[in-house]
Amino acid sequence: MDRRVRVRFAPSPTGPLHIGGVRTALYNYLYAKKHGGDFLLRIEDTDQTRFVPGAEEYIIESLKWLGIEAVEGIGFGDGPHAPYRQSERKPMYREYVMQLIANGMAYYAFDTAEDLEGMRERLKASNVDAKYDAITRGTMKNSLTLSEDEVTKRLENGDAYVVRFKLPRKEEVKFHDEIRGWVSFNTSQMDDKVLFKSDGMPTYHLANVVDDYLMEITQVIRGEEWLPSAPLHVLLYRAFGWEDKMPKFAHLPLLLKPEGNGKLSKRDGDRLGFPVFPMNWVDPTTKELSSGYREAGYLPEAVINLLAFLGWNPGTSQEIFSLEELAEAFSLERVSKSGAKFDQNKAKWFNQQYVRKLSDEALAPYLQSGLNQNLPDNSVNPATILKVCGLVKEKISFTKEIWDYSSYFFIAPSTYDEQVVKKRWNEKIPALLDNLIENFQNIDSFIHTEIEQAYHQALEKQGILGKDFLQLFRVILTGVAGGPPLFEIAETIGKEETISRIKYALTKLA
Ligand code: GLU
Repeated sequence: MDRRVRVRFAPSPTGPLHIGGVRTALYNYLYAKKHGGDFLLRIEDTDQTRFVPGAEEYIIESLKWLGIEAVEGIGFGDGPHAPYRQSERKPMYREYVMQLIANGMAYYAFDTAEDLEGMRERLKASNVDAKYDAITRGTMKNSLTLSEDEVTKRLENGDAYVVRFKLPRKEEVKFHDEIRGWVSFNTSQMDDKVLFKSDGMPTYHLANVVDDYLMEITQVIRGEEWLPSAPLHVLLYRAFGWEDKMPKFAHLPLLLKPEGNGKLSKRDGDRLGFPVFPMNWVDPTTKELSSGYREAGYLPEAVINLLAFLGWNPGTSQEIFSLEELAEAFSLERVSKSGAKFDQNKAKWFNQQYVRKLSDEALAPYLQSGLNQNLPDNSVNPATILKVCGLVKEKISFTKEIWDYSSYFFIAPSTYDEQVVKKRWNEKIPALLDNLIENFQNIDSFIHTEIEQAYHQALEKQGILGKDFLQLFRVILTGVAGGPPLFEIAETIGKEETISRIKYALTKLA
């Protein structure tokens, strides 16, 4: 019988979560949803030297902001395999490492830093790749070279040790990667990795494999940087006799710089002006700020959509997908092997698409906050606010831009786009404007269709072509050269205000 799909995101709390990590979490989440399985969040904090305060909270908050909800795990509620933080699982790992030692699959090593350095120096001199492996372990201080008594004595003395995995000397380790196909590594290229330390802490490799096994993980979907660790993990499953429970592996392609060469870094973001983290992060030591998508004004739905497309595509021309639609469409077969280039314009485009989808009601608070900041005493009618939101929605890429694109609805222009004035103002314009004022005054119901009609009547009478005047008229009413449909702007600001702006332009420009 097929096992229930269970996948996990297993970050280490060593700093803010990079968007590459968020994408890994997302693909795991989508995979679980698609297969009716479980998505878990496990915190891998065995390397205490790299622990950064606040990083774990940051990871959880980011996932929650984006709607990447785990069913079990830190921050999302305990499940049957609690605890989900590896430092709290510390006592469990000893039992497993002891099992490996008893089976001859792992051994104690007592080498000091100087011993290791000495080995490296020796091997460097003879031009051999310096590593602790099947060849060199015989020359080092470990339970394979020391007598049993000596080992017992050292352990009883409380001497510092590590437990190393005893790798076969030359063995081809082959496994199937769901994205890359068959992958093979030779153990002669690998070293006897440390699995456990005398302080009782496992290393990443041991804790990761033991926990994936205990938590019944069926697919390990993670970044490409873990591919070189996978053969060791395969050998660990074999050493424990858990091969039938070994998860399938899928190593995701890297997120690349916009230019395509090298991994996308914070520096690229700073250099080119886009965030590479989901939310703002202030480094607790250096106080350096790393900017985030949330604070930059991105909507969570847009971030999900843009990340989904960095390394996956649906095979159709559809680009806009909700989280639910992504879960429906997602498959590992459509994840590419090669790195995905980050495209900041595309990121912005995705956000724009989602801003356009917002209801006028959802946008209204952003406009209201712009109003409160710029016109503290305003009491703009809520219906006008909604109307303005509806009109400018198409023009903005970020919700926070709304005030900049709509301030002229509330504040009459005092300056005008100079280029337009220079090109379009001529001696016939004052008479046309007088005529417009007159026509507008006679409109009972000041709605855009009526305004447009009155406008054309005036143009005709003055013998001026619409295409020669429309942009100037826009500048007269708003100060700027672009924006939503002009007659709707006039309708929104109202008859009195429209006329007053025309009169003001006459005094300023004529
Ligand atoms: N703790 C590892 C990380 O920080 C997890 C790698 C894996 O998913 O196995 O990415």
